[in-house]
Parts: sequence; C-alpha cells; structure tokens
Amino acid sequence: MDLGEIARYQVEFDRKHGWDWSNLEGGERINALNYLAVALAGEVGEFCNIVKKITRKYRSLGEPPSGREIDELYGELVDVFIYIIKGSAEIFKKDLGEAYLKKMRENEERFKEFREKRPR
Ligand SMILES: [Mg+2]
Repeated sequence: MDLGEIARYQVEFDRKHGWDWSNLEGGERINALNYLAVALAGEVGEFCNIVKKITRKYRSLGEPPSGREIDELYGELVDVFIYIIKGSAEIFKKDLGEAYLKKMRENEERFKEFREKRPR
C-alpha cells in the first residue's frame, strides 16, 4: 500500500467515525490543528516513555528490551505515523510521499559535506 492509498484509507476511516477534518474552515480548522498537535505530542510522549523504561531497565539491570517492549514501542511509532498521515491528508491536503521526496532532495544538498566522511 503506498502513501496515497494509506491517506485515502485514513480519510475514509475518519469519515466513518465522524472524525474527518477535510472540510473544516476557520476556527474549526484551527481546533483540528490544535488537536493534531496535542495528539502528536501525546503519541511521541508514549513512545518516549517506553524508551525511558527500556533505558532504565538496561542501565539498572543490564537487560535488553524484550520482544513485547519492542512491539509496544513500534506500536507507538505507528500511532505517530497515523496522526502524520491524518494531518497531511485532512488539514494540509498534501501528498506526503511527494513532500518527503522533495525534502530528501533538499537534505541531499544540505548534508552533502557529510557524504562518505563517517569515521571508520
Ligand atoms: Mg499510542
């Protein structure tokens, strides 16, 4: 499934549940943007909290993360992705794949001095 298909799936999912932000204007659009910011920060916070617990366990007991912890961590990364897809499709109405490629072309130029200069 490519990013366009994922975005359409997300919009359809949100439409079915009454959460579609695609046609909001003015204050309602600002409220959706506010919700998006809070939701993204919340999901990043959930991700970071699991990293905190993994780090604490490793530092205190020398135990690496369990498979369950890695699965939970990845689940939070997916939650972040869902809000990125939702915000991109419904608030910004942008093609995330296209924006990603444009940004990566900019990064190729921006970070060109670091190419092949990694210490070995
Ligand atoms: Mg979550």
